[in-house]
Amino acid sequence: MNAPTAGGGGPIVVAGAGYAGLHVALRLTAKLRNHPAVELTLVDRHDYHQVITELPRVAGGTRAAGAVRIPLQDMLATRVRFVRAEITGFDLAGRRLLTGAGPIGWRRLVLALGSRPNDFAIPGLAQRTLSLYSAGDAERVWAAVSKALDDAAAAADPERQRRLATVVVGGGGATGVELAGELAEIMPEAASRHGLAPGRPAVQLVEAGPTILAGSSPQLIDKAARILSDLGVQVHTNAVVAAATADGFRLTDGQLVQGGVFVWAGGVKAPELVADSALPTGHNGRVKVDRYLRVLDRPEIYAAGDLASVTDPRTGHVLPPLAQAALEEGETVARNLDAELEGRPLESFTFHDKGFVVSVGTRRGVADIAGITTGGRLAHLLKDTIEWEYRQSVRHLRGWDPVAR
Ligand SMILES: Cc1cc2nc3c(=O)[nH]c(=O)nc-3n(C[C@H](O)[C@H](O)[C@H](O)COP(=O)(O)OP(=O)(O)OC[C@H]3O[C@@H](n4cnc5c(N)ncnc54)[C@H](O)[C@@H]3O)c2cc1C
Repeated sequence: MNAPTAGGGGPIVVAGAGYAGLHVALRLTAKLRNHPAVELTLVDRHDYHQVITELPRVAGGTRAAGAVRIPLQDMLATRVRFVRAEITGFDLAGRRLLTGAGPIGWRRLVLALGSRPNDFAIPGLAQRTLSLYSAGDAERVWAAVSKALDDAAAAADPERQRRLATVVVGGGGATGVELAGELAEIMPEAASRHGLAPGRPAVQLVEAGPTILAGSSPQLIDKAARILSDLGVQVHTNAVVAAATADGFRLTDGQLVQGGVFVWAGGVKAPELVADSALPTGHNGRVKVDRYLRVLDRPEIYAAGDLASVTDPRTGHVLPPLAQAALEEGETVARNLDAELEGRPLESFTFHDKGFVVSVGTRRGVADIAGITTGGRLAHLLKDTIEWEYRQSVRHLRGWDPVAR
C-alpha cells in the first residue's frame, strides 16, 4: 500500500485556501519544523477562508457574510508565506504556478482550487440564476430575496405579488435542500417586515431526479421531505430544467416554474483553469489522482478537495464534493508531503465517512450517522455542533505549534 518517495527540499506551493488547501498548510506547518529551509506558500484570490457549509444561513439573512469569512492572517503561522493573487494557469514543464502576482515556482504543488457551479449548458441558466458558492454569492441571494419582497409589496395584483415573492431553487441536493428550508422558514417573517402577508412568499425546489438528496437512505429522504412539506416548500421531482427564460424555469415537459428569484444549486464541476490544462481529468472535469492523491503521471503534483477525483477503494465510487472529504484529503496530502521530506513511504488515502447531516430550516434537520437516521431538532443541533467544532479545530490547528509561529 505504500509508495517509496524521492524526498528533497525546495518550495511547496498550495493553490487554494479552502477546506483542503488551508488544512494542508495548517498541518504541514508543524511538520516542517525539521525543515526550516523548505518554503511553504499558500495562494488564494481572497485573504480569507470561507466557511462554505454555513452559506445557506447567510443566504437566509440569519448570518452576516463577514462571519463566514475567516481572515487567513488569523490562522496562518508566519512560517507560511501567503500570496493573495488570482491563479491564471499552470506551467507544468517549468514547474511554475502562473498568477496575477507573477509566476511562483514549486518543487511540489498542491491543487485545491475547489469547484464552480455546473450549469450543464442549460440555456439561460448562467445568466438568469444566482449561485451559492461564496459569501458574496450568499449575500447576493439574500439581497435578491429582500428586493423581491419589496417589489412584491409594491405590486397591486395578488398573482404578481405571489410570483415576485417566490424563490425557485434548482437542484435538490444538500445545498438546495438547506437553502430552500432556510428561506421557507425565514421568508414569512421577512415578508411582514416588507408589508406583505406572511403567507404570500413561497419556495419551490426543482429536482431533475426522482428524489431529493439522491444517494441518501430512503428514511433520511422521507424525513427531509416531510420537514420541507411542513415548511410549505413545493418540491418538484423528475423536473428537468430545459431552459431558464425571463418567465422562469422551463421544464422538459413544457411546464413553467415561475418566481421572482432563481438560485441554481444543481451541482458543481472543476474550475475552468483545470479544464483548460493538460492535467488528466475525469467526470465533471475533476483531476484524476492515484491512491496517494498525486495527480496521475504527475507525482510532483497533489490534488485534494472538490477538484480531485478520488475513488473510495471500498466502494469503487468517486467521493462526492464534500468539505468532509476535502479535510481528510488535505490531511493525507500534508502527511505525504512530510513523508517525502523525511524519506518515508507515502500513505494511501482512506475516507472515514463521519455521516451525513443536512439542516432543513432554521430549527430542524436530518442526519444519517453510523446507520442511524434522525430528523428534527437533534439533527439541527448536530449541524450546529459540527460547524462550531470546525471553527474550533481551525483555531486549534493555528495554535498547535507555537514553535512555528
Ligand atoms: C452552500 C453549500 C453548503 C455546503 N455544505 C456542506 C456540508 O454541510 N458538509 C460538507 O461536507 N460539505 C458541504 N458543502 C461542500 C463543501 O463546501 C465543499 O466540498 C468544499 O468547500 C470543498 O473544499 P475545497 O478546498 O475543495 O474547495 P473550496 O473550499 O471551494 O476552496 C477553494 C479555494 O480556492 C480558491 N480559488 C479558486 N480558484 C482560484 C483562482 N483561480 N485563483 C486563486 N484562488 C482560487 C478559492 O478562493 C477558495 O478559497 C457545501 C457546499 C455548498 C456550496
